[in-house]
Amino acid sequence: MKRIGVLSSGGDAPGMNAAIRAVVRKGIYHDLEVWGIKRGYAGLIDGELYRLELRSVADVIQRGGTILHTARSQEFMTNEGRQRALSILKEYGIDGVVVIGGDGSFRGGIELMKLGIKVVGVPGTIDNDLFGTDYTIGFDTAVNTVVDAINKVRDTAVSHERIFVIEVMGRHSGEIALNAGLAGGAESILIPELPYNPSEVCLRLRESYLKGKKHSIIIVAEGVASASQVVEDIRTISGFDTRITVLGHLQRGGTPSAFDRNLASRLSAAAVEALVNGNSGYMVGIQGSQISLVSLEEAVNHKKQINTEFLELAQVLSR
Ligand code: ADP
Repeated sequence: MKRIGVLSSGGDAPGMNAAIRAVVRKGIYHDLEVWGIKRGYAGLIDGELYRLELRSVADVIQRGGTILHTARSQEFMTNEGRQRALSILKEYGIDGVVVIGGDGSFRGGIELMKLGIKVVGVPGTIDNDLFGTDYTIGFDTAVNTVVDAINKVRDTAVSHERIFVIEVMGRHSGEIALNAGLAGGAESILIPELPYNPSEVCLRLRESYLKGKKHSIIIVAEGVASASQVVEDIRTISGFDTRITVLGHLQRGGTPSAFDRNLASRLSAAAVEALVNGNSGYMVGIQGSQISLVSLEEAVNHKKQINTEFLELAQVLSR
């Protein structure tokens, strides 16, 4: 292998730049030429490639977002689009690609592999929803952003003795809600993996109120219901007046935490090593403190189990 490409795709996540930097510098360390592919699969189809040198990734480790930009590509979902992508890679002499992204990006990577390109995936998504890795790049930063928001909302909740519902990202995964909720001392955490029971939420609110706790923070993952729906349910059932905070895209930005930078650096260096050793079709993941290779098929087709112990603990500790 002489030339490899690197792209970021799907939703952006803090730490993607640290990942790109590690791919470039580890690749050059192994005497590879590294080419950046802009805007994910969309840019690949459009031939937006440029050579990345050691200095091209200077001053990026601390920056959120992705210097390669990211996009979603409908065209890559078609056979013609993928053939076009293949011909671009052939034109540039690139036979291995590091894909930084989430499960959708890895599904794209699997398709690329079927066309004879070597592909290794680096898990970059704030959702932490990929099977085969304890953590994905960006998750730790997003959780810290949410915890910071909970702290601030709690100040005003305590002052005014109010109930707040904070909506966080997670259409299919409660990882952000659960981890930020436990760290932020939330009184209720609602996640898409479990049935939503508004009466139970109200019961907990009433119990807390009777015990003298006049403020409460409820964290709801967007996949459960909107914060306004939860507020409406609480008002209907219990009559409590409740306020809303929707964190939205704040959760995707910001300087990556040290944890995310180190995770990105380690996983991406391992991805390059995997390509150098002739491996393809794997995601690099972290399990415990060990870096491991998990097949891309497994990573996208298995569901990561949520740790409901967190939820039980959060309920015990927030009383
Ligand atoms: P994420 O990687 O964050 O889960 P998406 O689900 O939006 O992001 O996927 C990113 C891109 O990956 C899509 O826009 C598409 O170009 C490509 N992709 C996703 N699924 C497939 C698939 N089954 N076949 C080919 N390409 C895919």
